[in-house]
Amino acid sequence: MKSQAKQTIFKVQPYIPGRPIEDVKRELGLKDVVKLASNENPYPSSPKVIKAISVAAKSINRYPDGGCYALRQELAKQLKVKPEQLIFGNGSDEVIVMAVRAFVSPGDEVVLAKPSFLVYEIASCIEGATLKAIPLLPDFKYDLKAMKAAVTDKTKIIFLGNPDNPSGQYLTKDELTWFLDGLRKDILIFIDEAYYEYVNAKDYPDTLQLLKTYPNIFVARTFSKMYGLAGLRVGYGIGASELVDIIGRVREPFNINSIAQEAALACLKDKAYYKSIALKINQQRKYLYSNLSAMGLEFVKSYTNFVLIKVAQGGKAVSQALLKKGVIVRDMSVWGKTEYFRLSIGAFDLHIFRHIERVAFKNCSPDLSRL
Ligand SMILES: *Cc1c(COP(=O)(O)O)cnc(C)c1O
Repeated sequence: MKSQAKQTIFKVQPYIPGRPIEDVKRELGLKDVVKLASNENPYPSSPKVIKAISVAAKSINRYPDGGCYALRQELAKQLKVKPEQLIFGNGSDEVIVMAVRAFVSPGDEVVLAKPSFLVYEIASCIEGATLKAIPLLPDFKYDLKAMKAAVTDKTKIIFLGNPDNPSGQYLTKDELTWFLDGLRKDILIFIDEAYYEYVNAKDYPDTLQLLKTYPNIFVARTFSKMYGLAGLRVGYGIGASELVDIIGRVREPFNINSIAQEAALACLKDKAYYKSIALKINQQRKYLYSNLSAMGLEFVKSYTNFVLIKVAQGGKAVSQALLKKGVIVRDMSVWGKTEYFRLSIGAFDLHIFRHIERVAFKNCSPDLSRL
């Protein structure tokens, strides 16, 4: 059978998600497990969102509204774009997949950073793209010059994670416009703003403004990260109506379920609640930094709700040791950064820092088997 299948799928490096809490509890017989591996929002959803979900649950015998009418109208109003400039996806993961499906044919080229968000690579590989993966600079920022130089006549999409995952770094407005200027106007510039709500840097680009000058930009955002709807899967893309129409042709008719639509709408109507959560996360990030500094650990300052931490023992050993303590983090070896692990910013308890200190303290080489 294998030879009959689409051969590109065998080249795909499978996505390895953060381990689910229940899975780890079962395997290790632990009662308390904290997941800090998938950049989820650790705080409970707003009561209004929970209410909207229970109301929507009464109508699950019906198909959802394939056009996401109410959610689309509200989001368009808040973003000051036309409703037809929006496309919804089953998570922004699906928005990535749809853009690639709509644009990439076998042999086309896709430019991206390495390491970057794995779904860009997976989706592109499946469609038979040749990847031009440009290594990050030593400070984890994009090598924009090299990315621009990698563009050829065959380039169909350029992926810019802003801020990107796992680096946590962002492109400034000047860097982005420098990059866009002089590029062919028919290349799809996919700007992934999954962490948009967490960035509070003054020079972070206003991409919806830039859309007016660069209609080949397509911006993706999500309800998974700040709005805490990771389990319901709602993301969206924003672009010129013509571009959204093209990408919409590969969308499945009922890709956003009815509960997810109502929950996302309720999030938009309770923005103040979520803004206060973003503030809390930013405070927790400072708290994390000061604890890491006190432990003598190096880390990469981030503009998101996760941080890369450098450990002499290596990301793999430290994440395995933390797992035994019931703390799920992400080893960065899969991304080729063997000295790092990624920690999502949660509602930190001191005991988490104590675990990190025990397994990763810089100036000693702890006996990991002892833990
Ligand atoms: C988490 C993440 C996404 C995907 O989120 P969805 O849950 O699919 O909306 C997209 N891009 C980046 C960079 C991410 O980190």
